[in-house]
Amino acid sequence: MDYIDPHIHMVSRTTDDYETLAKMGCVALSEPAFWAGFDRGSVDGFRDYFRQLTEVEPRRAAAYGIQHYTWLCINAKEAENIPLSREVIAMIPEFLDRPNVLGIGEIGLNKNTRNESIVFLEHLQLAAAHDQLVLIHTPHLEDKYQGTRMILDMLADFREIEPHRVLVDHVEEHTIRHVLEAGYWAGMTLYPITKCTPARAADLIERFGPERICVNSAGDWGPSRPTAVPDFILEMRRRGHEEALIRQIVFENPQAFFRQSINFKLTGSAGREVQTSR
Ligand SMILES: [Zn+2]
Repeated sequence: MDYIDPHIHMVSRTTDDYETLAKMGCVALSEPAFWAGFDRGSVDGFRDYFRQLTEVEPRRAAAYGIQHYTWLCINAKEAENIPLSREVIAMIPEFLDRPNVLGIGEIGLNKNTRNESIVFLEHLQLAAAHDQLVLIHTPHLEDKYQGTRMILDMLADFREIEPHRVLVDHVEEHTIRHVLEAGYWAGMTLYPITKCTPARAADLIERFGPERICVNSAGDWGPSRPTAVPDFILEMRRRGHEEALIRQIVFENPQAFFRQSINFKLTGSAGREVQTSR
């Protein structure tokens, strides 16, 4: 089945992974900017990273027929350094007209600190000023519920960005309802250790339905499975769900969210399929 992985960090993956994703049906993916495993030292470190996201990865992906899209920001883990964060936010517009940029992300909170909140809000202002979509990271484990509430409160107070232009990622059982009821898109991350398993994601679809929900692998440099979306497809089939429902979650939903950016255009056989099925 053709699918889109809306959240995967390909700079951390090998070319073999691109080949595997292509063989499994991945036609497009999007790569949010994130933490490299160490704090970058300067705005030029981010400028180089954004060149990798907008120049190098699209070429690597295209070699396997996959369309590569990206999101730009300074990650919440580096937001404690407010002067550096502001330099990065001021530099991002250099890249916003690159053809694979969908918006600002993954912004959000990590330890739910005041500095993280300040930098989160300044990213929202950047997105609003440039009419960009927003992709949001919610914190892990014990910080998730409080962090998600803080993020939803800040978004509710920030009226310049409409809810349907925001995807709140890494939702779990105790946060998904709040995200959907406020009108945002919700992302479920299928991770082997800290986040949702394919079975838990399938349970959530059975409880909440498929509207405005996407699933992703968030594959990165840590323990993760870049093929987690196909694992979810298998789990849904095993439970007897219709192909049309599965396709809505893994293909049509991310496409509908991304298509709000003028930069998102599916080409090739997947694109033609979309044209005729509209
Ligand atoms: Zn991520």
